[in-house]
Amino acid sequence: MNEHTTEPPVRLPAEPAETVRMAELFGRLAPSFDRYADGHAAGSFPAYVHGAVPDDGGPLPVSGVGPEGAIDGVGVAVEHGSRISAPGWLSFVTTGATTVPAAAFAASIVAGGQRYLHQSFNTLEYTGLRWLAELCGLPEGVTGVFSSGGSTSQLLGLGAARQAAFERRGVNVGEHGVPVGEQGRIYASEVAHRTVHRAGAVLGIGRQGVRAIPVDGDGRMSVEALDAAIAADIRDGIVPIAVVANAGVTDTGAVDRIDRVGEVARRHGTWLHVDGAYGLVANAAPSLRHLFAGLEDADSWMVDPHKWLATGLGIGAVYVRDEGVLTRAFAEGEAAYLEGSFAPLEVRPVSQFDTIAGRWADQSLELTAPPRGVVVWAILREIGLEGVIARVERHVGFARAVADAAEAHPRLELLMQPQLSIACFRYVPDGGGEPATINELNRRILERLRVETHIIPSSTQVDGRFAIRPCFINPRTTEREVEALIDFVVRFGDELAARG
Ligand SMILES: *Cc1c(COP(=O)(O)O)cnc(C)c1O
Repeated sequence: MNEHTTEPPVRLPAEPAETVRMAELFGRLAPSFDRYADGHAAGSFPAYVHGAVPDDGGPLPVSGVGPEGAIDGVGVAVEHGSRISAPGWLSFVTTGATTVPAAAFAASIVAGGQRYLHQSFNTLEYTGLRWLAELCGLPEGVTGVFSSGGSTSQLLGLGAARQAAFERRGVNVGEHGVPVGEQGRIYASEVAHRTVHRAGAVLGIGRQGVRAIPVDGDGRMSVEALDAAIAADIRDGIVPIAVVANAGVTDTGAVDRIDRVGEVARRHGTWLHVDGAYGLVANAAPSLRHLFAGLEDADSWMVDPHKWLATGLGIGAVYVRDEGVLTRAFAEGEAAYLEGSFAPLEVRPVSQFDTIAGRWADQSLELTAPPRGVVVWAILREIGLEGVIARVERHVGFARAVADAAEAHPRLELLMQPQLSIACFRYVPDGGGEPATINELNRRILERLRVETHIIPSSTQVDGRFAIRPCFINPRTTEREVEALIDFVVRFGDELAARG
């Protein structure tokens, strides 16, 4: 700060929106956060009843109610809000924020502004990216960018792959588009996340341009089938864009043999993209590292801090080995109003406004974006590597406990051995039954869990069998919920089977 600059005197603006009294107004909201966190008493969670929040669904207010009234309305919304943070929520791969990331998120909105300019949140964006890469065991020197989540990261990783694939054929797709008549192909296992297909759709490859490679009994991509599929396509003049390896399938938690998949991709000169949106964080735990062998040889990786790191939603990350490819794929190009306003990145800044301090606008889909790195930095600062390992190992232990209980109980069946923190199992009545009847029975067990209890797993299909599927990533889940899940499934299964 130059001594000769003087701050103008603070005057109350003619603007009705409040911009000061933050402590007072945040403080007014804070008790509703604690009531929210406490509000997970046993019993199902009531559906939202329209009218609980003042003005919900009401007309556009002509006169505002002022800060206190608005904050109080937000507080009511908090208390009637989403219960995905509750300990018994075990559905999909999603959970709410713990306290420190929530506070960091608020801080980033108050003081982080953009992720650009030389200011603390910009530095923490870099630190968050570096710590996350190290946590996940990525090689040194990778380039990362935060995104809004896995959907966007998928598009970024595969977009970079498409750029590289066509550059090898002498075409800069980022500049000139996909050459007419060229068909690209993405290879992913039949249980890959559907965001792979959407990325294919957006990238001009098409959802149909994603080849489904069969999996083995452990849910892992068949390397032989992958090899044959790529070879056949090359013979037919199709352009292989990327192989997507799963580092944690959303349905089952299965991890592909990344080393063997990578070997096939390399042999065909194809990009290897690792979808670790859910599972990559598990590579932090030495006890699980064997699952991820070969990870360091990939070309791109994605991980969602908003899953296992419980940062609150809207935080994904993608990393690439070759920064240039990502930039050539996603650069927005020079804009008169942007570049001219700053010194080049290499110039040592004196004021925080001297350089733009980050290339992310040219390496992602977003120009304006919040500094999500501060949220990742904050949770890693709070619990450290050890805290992440403890969380991951605890959750993997929960999935193992469900699997053990299912294997031990005469009327439960484990449908796949868990590799990470997802367990797929079902109830099977004494004497078995028709496949469709057993599927329907388990569907009704799941419905009773949802309606009558505080234990909320979701479901999937394993080899055509309806699976009850708890996924453990929620920091607040304990052994109590794990035991309750097993008890309820057996009790509801027995009751429903007795009724026939
Ligand atoms: C969740 C998930 C995605 C999509 O991520 P979003 O953050 O929900 O957009 C992609 N791949 C896998 C394996 C996932 O689990």
